[in-house]
Amino acid sequence: MTAKLIKGTEIREEILEEITREVKEIKEKHGVVPGLVTILVGSSPASISYVTLKIKTAHRVGFTEIQDDQPVDISEEDLLALIEKYNKDESINGILVQLPLPKHIDDKKILNAIDPDKDVDGFHPVNVGRLMIGGDEVKFPPCTPFGIQEMIIRAGVETSGAEVVVVGRSNIVGKPIANMMVQKGPGANATVTIVHTRTKDLAAHCKRADILIVAAGVPDLVKPEWIKPGACVIDVGVNRVGEKISEKTGKTIAILKGDVDFDAAKEIAGYITPVPGGVGPMTITMLMLNTLKSLKFKLGLM
Ligand code: NAD
Repeated sequence: MTAKLIKGTEIREEILEEITREVKEIKEKHGVVPGLVTILVGSSPASISYVTLKIKTAHRVGFTEIQDDQPVDISEEDLLALIEKYNKDESINGILVQLPLPKHIDDKKILNAIDPDKDVDGFHPVNVGRLMIGGDEVKFPPCTPFGIQEMIIRAGVETSGAEVVVVGRSNIVGKPIANMMVQKGPGANATVTIVHTRTKDLAAHCKRADILIVAAGVPDLVKPEWIKPGACVIDVGVNRVGEKISEKTGKTIAILKGDVDFDAAKEIAGYITPVPGGVGPMTITMLMLNTLKSLKFKLGLM
């Protein structure tokens, strides 16, 4: 293997420790800690497991956490009223509504009702606009792209002047990470290309990339011959390609694969993220960082 592994599991630990330290300092000086509310509607097992992990992580770093579970048949009106209650609650710095919501509720209407200054997921149009403007305007970058940029910075990969190619143009990964990498500032200043399903020659674009960020949701889409020797390859894809019995727990677990042919790519790339254990652990970590930032903005510390 020639590539250096960028491990999200290790970077997560570093960042969570930094957050824990900062939470303690703020508590000592200002007598407050960040407050996060998670709103889960219904009882989908996948959503429960995501929310449980978010709550566990919030406790670990010393936040106060309110878990507000609601029945699957809650009306849109009642959910909007609940969000308004937390918008006004001074002890809450971050409001997280777990998606997807039941069909009778309009996701967009709900997300747009969250106070942009408590929108720690970074999905509110105001925060999307702030991200587009860049610099001091940015409050809450969406968590997965924020995590990707942080991994690149902490791995010591040069981004200034680099050719960055982003595969995928979704609102939660492709478009925001492309926008972040093109801004002025650390971990950015790159020349960015976004490629997608209508791109004519995907391979030719990928071959130019000093930093290749792949978020397509197609297992093994990126072939080793598409990778420039020494490039930094960030594989965001999480694809369930089968099941296996866990050696640790004896339970059936999903076999996960990224969007990049990892075994071959690691012989060519300079840096690469594994799947699992790469970008995945960064998302909740950056949610915690955004919640801490929200309190710091409120206290005038940022
Ligand atoms: P999406 O389906 O919303 O978007 C995928 C994008 O990839 C689309 O813009 C599409 O045009 C492009 N694409 C798909 N197939 C392509 C192809 N053959 N050639 C070129 N472009 C192609 O997906 P998403 O929400 O952006 O997620 C992408 C992947 O990242 C998924 O596997 C998802 O599970 C994973 N993901 C991981 C995390 C995490 O680790 N924390 C977070 C978000 C998404």
